[in-house]
Amino acid sequence: MTMATPPLASTTLFADLDVAVELDAPLGRHTWYGIGGSADALVRPQTVQALATLLRRCARNGVRVRVLGSGANLLVGDDGVEGVVILLDAPCFKELQLNAEGPVTAARVGGGRDLAKTIHETVAAGLAGLEPLIGIPASIGGAIRMNAGGKYGAIGDVVQSVTIVGFDGEERTYARDQVRFEYRHTDLPAGIITSAVLSLRASEPLGLRERAKEISKYKASVQPLAEHSAGCMYKNPVHPATGQRVSAGKLIDDAGLKGTRVGGALVSPQHGNFIVVEPGARASDVAELAALVADETFRRTGVRLEREVVFWRRGEA
Ligand SMILES: Cc1cc2nc3c(=O)[nH]c(=O)nc-3n(C[C@H](O)[C@H](O)[C@H](O)COP(=O)(O)OP(=O)(O)OC[C@H]3O[C@@H](n4cnc5c(N)ncnc54)[C@H](O)[C@@H]3O)c2cc1C
Repeated sequence: MTMATPPLASTTLFADLDVAVELDAPLGRHTWYGIGGSADALVRPQTVQALATLLRRCARNGVRVRVLGSGANLLVGDDGVEGVVILLDAPCFKELQLNAEGPVTAARVGGGRDLAKTIHETVAAGLAGLEPLIGIPASIGGAIRMNAGGKYGAIGDVVQSVTIVGFDGEERTYARDQVRFEYRHTDLPAGIITSAVLSLRASEPLGLRERAKEISKYKASVQPLAEHSAGCMYKNPVHPATGQRVSAGKLIDDAGLKGTRVGGALVSPQHGNFIVVEPGARASDVAELAALVADETFRRTGVRLEREVVFWRRGEA
């Protein structure tokens, strides 16, 4: 499905709003892939109120809105994207407040805050709960939207509530029991996660730091963290024969696809589920290689892969 949007330079969408606007803004520098085209407008709201008003105006004017976190799970198409891309990098979206009540601390954290920084600070404060996510590049909003996690746990395990400004401009808070956190998925309504409350536990600091180090070491040993990628391209699928979740990376490896290349995109020789890029790669190389990997894996193993990485392409809903 395609969507037409009015040219943004000629609109009054941003008039009198506390927002910073960059028209025709290259998005590659905001993503881990480092490639892809431009957004018609990259907008940094400076307050929650400005964000809400902007979303209301966009909805009224039929302007498409997307939200960018750390760009660690994202492939932006070579033609970029239409409409408005929101970036929550103003201080009001990056706050961290720790409220201790006995052994449990409620950490109120902004949706645009860096996950790694938050883990570092909470571990240093002797608070356990986020350290299973060490090494996962993300903003808090992006991590919650994707229910980021791995072998040691997922962010959903510690979420107490999530506050979202919907595309209608209304702010709503969802309690833990109103949200389903599943493997790399949440059923949170559409909109922009502006903050969340996480439930962390007091823990012996030395032991906690050791555990964080161990997890970090494990992650670096299994994933090509220094390369340009968006993490795992595919979710670990449920095997049709056993009903068990199996490693997509192993299936891709079993299908003999490690090292397969399209243009500047390559199936990582270290981890079959990572598609990494070399200088000069195009987003279309990654998309073509990802499709080839899914087709060949199905042909050779009989298992269908579902994409984890989000693709943004101009005109696509
Ligand atoms: C080297 C590497 C290793 C990785 N390892 C892991 C891993 O072990 N486990 C794992 O789960 N993931 C992993 N990933 C993928 C990625 O880190 C996660 O998916 C992460 O949650 C993405 O967060 P982000 O802020 O970068 O989101 P983005 O990539 O910016 O966006 C992803 C999606 O979330 C939406 N989104 C972003 N911010 C918000 C917001 N504030 N409100 C609403 N929606 C929002 C976007 O619109 C988009 O749909 C890895 C990625 C890389 C590059």
